[in-house]
Amino acid sequence: MSDLRELYQTTILDHNKHPRNFGELPDANKKAHGDNPLCGDKITIFVDVDRDLVKAVRFHGSGCAISKASASMMTEQIEGKSLVEANELFLNFQEMVTSDPIQPVDTSGLGKLSVFAGVREFPMRIKCATLCWHTFKAAVNNQTETVKTEE
Ligand code: ZN
Repeated sequence: MSDLRELYQTTILDHNKHPRNFGELPDANKKAHGDNPLCGDKITIFVDVDRDLVKAVRFHGSGCAISKASASMMTEQIEGKSLVEANELFLNFQEMVTSDPIQPVDTSGLGKLSVFAGVREFPMRIKCATLCWHTFKAAVNNQTETVKTEE
């Protein structure tokens, strides 16, 4: 298990240090802001949606390593996918990180995103990991209000 943990940490730290798809997207036709006041994470997600396809996605903002790595990996996973597929991934991801930490984790269909299974043990961190997903969902649903993790 400790090897696996190390791999998780290495992946998350790598994405935090070198976030993929970081920056603005001038051609974006969808955009939303997200805010996780508990931790201080702020994010903007830019999406270029072509019919039902996520043609391109970028993110911008500042926050903790988990929130940044999660956004970085999310953009990698959903670019090129259909909105339906992206939403399915979101639901699987959400289910994984909010599942009971003493139960075996179900990472089926999550691929690289399964590195976030570790946040199950840190309730404070769950919102850091899911902020980008909620913000992405808000963007594609044309929600103009800032997404807040506090509700
Ligand atoms: Zn955070």
